Amino acid sequence: MRSSPVTVVGAGLAGSEAAWQLAQRGIDVHLYEMRPRRQTEAHHTADFAELVCSNSFGAQAPDRALGMLKEELRALDSLIMRCADEHALPAGGALAVGRSEFSRAVTEALSNHPRVTVIREEVTDIPSGPCIIATGPLTSAALSKRIAELAGQRYLYFYDALAPIVTLESIRMPPAWRQSRYDRDGGEEPGDYINCPLNEQEYRAFVQALRQAERIELRQFEKEDERFFEGCLPIEVLAERGDDALAFGPMRPVGLRDPRTGKRPYAVVQLRQDNLAGTLYNLVGFQTNLKWPEQRRILRMIPGLEEAQFVRLGQMHRNTFINSPKLLRPTLQWHDRDDLFFAGQIIGTEGYVGSTAGGLLAGINLARLVSGRAPLVMPRETMMGALFHYVTHAEPADFQPMKANFGLLPPLEPPVRNKRQRYRRYFERGQEALRRWMERELAS
Ligand SMILES: Cc1cc2nc3c(=O)[nH]c(=O)nc-3n(C[C@H](O)[C@H](O)[C@H](O)COP(=O)(O)OP(=O)(O)OC[C@H]3O[C@@H](n4cnc5c(N)ncnc54)[C@H](O)[C@@H]3O)c2cc1C
Repeated sequence: MRSSPVTVVGAGLAGSEAAWQLAQRGIDVHLYEMRPRRQTEAHHTADFAELVCSNSFGAQAPDRALGMLKEELRALDSLIMRCADEHALPAGGALAVGRSEFSRAVTEALSNHPRVTVIREEVTDIPSGPCIIATGPLTSAALSKRIAELAGQRYLYFYDALAPIVTLESIRMPPAWRQSRYDRDGGEEPGDYINCPLNEQEYRAFVQALRQAERIELRQFEKEDERFFEGCLPIEVLAERGDDALAFGPMRPVGLRDPRTGKRPYAVVQLRQDNLAGTLYNLVGFQTNLKWPEQRRILRMIPGLEEAQFVRLGQMHRNTFINSPKLLRPTLQWHDRDDLFFAGQIIGTEGYVGSTAGGLLAGINLARLVSGRAPLVMPRETMMGALFHYVTHAEPADFQPMKANFGLLPPLEPPVRNKRQRYRRYFERGQEALRRWMERELAS
């Protein structure tokens, strides 16, 4: 076994998972994390794998793309999935976690691992020697500059926004009520989500207020390059796109009935439990970059949130990623340096679970490389393999981060017309491919 340690930069979702996979394979790891000495714009703690926005890892069911990805991670002994499962909160069909308890568990597992040395320092250059860079969407400025130089890329970022969080006791019920969309949690107990209903008039007034609200001024260089991620648009940007863009987006009322009227409201704001104690709730899909007094004023127009106490307001952030189709191999190795790996959101695998998946493969592959074995490519029938294939083979000219989705998988042979059965079949095929791959590649 290799005697000198390998380097993992960034103890977020991807870096923590990578360090775990390496350490579990007997490799000594130096895990660099710049927090708490230097915080990013979105992190607030010193803990590893801090969830910077939502506390949800998305759908659980294996016939959903994120559910399928989670099952693969569990099969591959993912530390992030183990800690998420251990600290799960009620959230309908989704896996939401108590965010502090989850991150603390990840931090403890790594800090107590005999093969992991934690170094609380900012890394400002690309390390020499075997290394995984997993510094995420908010990679520090100095390192971003060095990666941009290495990549020959002018811009490494676009813009993204965070949703506000309110206290449970400040939500007025009714008119707000508890229900999960389509009663996915069974419908017998009160649902896991809190819903605030708007009639058409209230909705129109809300959209109008968003359009007229004052936004945080972008700095000059940001104005020149204002690029939002389409999957995470601020509500004020959606409001401008069309009168009903919000009613068909984050405020869609489908699968919900206001118990006072027995009817579906015109629009709904959903809130999801944010901490284990159940005292905090985040506004689902309500990323915003409005000025903070404006956020308070406009969000309090929502029935049920008139007296809302905000423990966090929305903000906008940089989101850094490299042009992976040009720069990475499907093993997550740099195109012209075998011992340099990238993983996590920085490679364009969007979301907590996708970022974790990259860390897992990079960890396995770096462990193999330093033990004299060839790094592996995952089967494309698995969600992990499909995701890494996409980010390393997409069109480089308009490459954007990608979430796990069934459209990335190779078509079924023969085709299955029924959607539910097709998704189920994708999952079964993926599990079979993963099992065979693990037997063949990971057994030795
Ligand atoms: C504002 C925002 C909101 C998001 N909201 C969601 C969401 O709600 N749901 C979702 O699924 N995904 C969300 N994402 C996308 C993404 O999945 C998460 O950001 C996820 O945390 C990415 O995991 P990661 O491991 O790649 O990066 P991170 O989890 O951010 O980890 C990177 C780590 O590297 C450290 N670091 C950075 N630079 C250095 C350096 N030079 N030296 C040492 N350490 C360094 C950071 O401190 C951090 O701990 C969001 C992203 C952003 C930017």
